[in-house]
Amino acid sequence: MQEPVDEPGPAVALPLRERAAAAERIVAAAASVALALRDKAARVSGAARGILEATALMAADPGLIDAAVSRVTGQGHTPERAVWAAVGEVTAVFKEQGGLLAERVSDLHDVRNRIVSELLGRPAPGLPYRVEPYVLVARDLAPADTALIDPTVCRAIVTVEGGPTSHTAILARALGLPAVVAARDAMDLPEGSVVIVDGTTGEIVVAPTDEQVLRAEEQIRRVITFDGAGRTRDGHRVQLLANVASPDSVAAAIEANAEGVGLFRTEFCFLDHAEAPGLDEQVAAYRQVFAGFPGKKVTIRTLDAGADKPLAFVTAADEVNPALGIRGYRTAWQRPELLDTQLQAIAAAAAAEDADVGVMAPMIATVDESVDFAARCAAHGLHNVGVMIETPAAAITAGPILERVDFASLGTNDLAQYTMAADRLMGELALLNDPWQPAVLRMIREACQAGLAAGKPVGVCGEAAADPMLAAILVGLGATSLSMSPRALGGVAEFLRGVTVDQCRDAALAAVAAGSADAARSAAALLLEPTRA
Ligand code: PEP
Ligand code: MG
Repeated sequence: MQEPVDEPGPAVALPLRERAAAAERIVAAAASVALALRDKAARVSGAARGILEATALMAADPGLIDAAVSRVTGQGHTPERAVWAAVGEVTAVFKEQGGLLAERVSDLHDVRNRIVSELLGRPAPGLPYRVEPYVLVARDLAPADTALIDPTVCRAIVTVEGGPTSHTAILARALGLPAVVAARDAMDLPEGSVVIVDGTTGEIVVAPTDEQVLRAEEQIRRVITFDGAGRTRDGHRVQLLANVASPDSVAAAIEANAEGVGLFRTEFCFLDHAEAPGLDEQVAAYRQVFAGFPGKKVTIRTLDAGADKPLAFVTAADEVNPALGIRGYRTAWQRPELLDTQLQAIAAAAAAEDADVGVMAPMIATVDESVDFAARCAAHGLHNVGVMIETPAAAITAGPILERVDFASLGTNDLAQYTMAADRLMGELALLNDPWQPAVLRMIREACQAGLAAGKPVGVCGEAAADPMLAAILVGLGATSLSMSPRALGGVAEFLRGVTVDQCRDAALAAVAAGSADAARSAAALLLEPTRA
């Protein structure tokens, strides 16, 4: 994936004699971009074809081209600068109009970047449109880019930036794609290289031998299935649930025999929205997920916008430190009407389907927020109410929080980030951002013990739940359910079937007492692995 183009600088005015030729270059570049897009459109089908055809029309728009040309002939702008400014004028109007027009702004930026790249002689930016299978290599991917990836052609993702619990990695898992993040030298891979991407070990093999290819193909075919009831060898029940990112990912959760949904990340439904989604649109999206699990548990989370999941209609663009800013439940302080509409939609969707719906709020830090959330839910007739425990503040006050709500769910991705003060997006900090860190395990223990004392369920829905051995530790610490990407269910279920709950508890004690994440892993392995062999 090519890197985005920078805004061209305001150059000195072009001499009069050069302007006609410069203007011609704009016409030619726009025509060539439109042609390339139409050509790609002809090679794909479905929604992708429609998008490409519409983008081609925008690139060939005479109004846009005339506006850019007159900036060159009249004001002596360079062609790149002229295109940038002309698109800027149109997008300003679109943004002001709001609604569907505002949603076209990102398409116009795409067209602008393509024409400017063409003018600069650079390859087209953004996600490549491919018909043949490929591995996507990018410096970084925003969740909005990742959501556009077609998993039937894109076979794996490699990024230079990003941590293992970044939302790019999470979305890749939701698509069922192997992903390796924080691969420092990935941009040096020559275009067209043959690579094996192993998302489990984080290995990338360049130019593999035939034998390596055969082994990888064998590994792909080996799928461990889950029978639909999580338990340890001695029958201690642990619900094994699926994380769902959008209605599209429900099928994978059903196919994997998930006992229900432990985390439905609703913000992923609206990443491309310039305006808040309306009530009906929300009801329809939530119903699709609820409909997949009649009679089963579905825990839906209210919008967790902000930090690396900015939503245009809620997130301020100028926060200095977004991970510590207005994200998660805090957005409701400023925009309570968004939360209320969402709760209304959840209540309507729950009433129309048969799922056993629970609703929880992200990024809770205080007892007061829990009280506020429970009251808002009650006002909409929603009674199975929980909060996410993903800040150290919530973990150590889980006792009083659980007096006010019905359940809690540990978001170990953020809990690790905030406990260790280590940005989950930074590959370099992955060693700190590790749920095996004893400090993180102690936070988890605090919350689980509060749950056991209150007799209320405390589950885990962060990526930690998808690591089979860590899953056993979480069970030992007292977690009542584990929610993960559907593909992880088989491996976790199999591991738990091989150990007793007492073993899990002993291993949890040892891991919590360890001096480092590695020592915690080794201590756990010593107590859990031998009886499995
Ligand atoms: C978490 O933080 O662990 C979590 C489940 O929420 P998200 O990954 O969406 O921030
Ligand atoms: Mg979180």
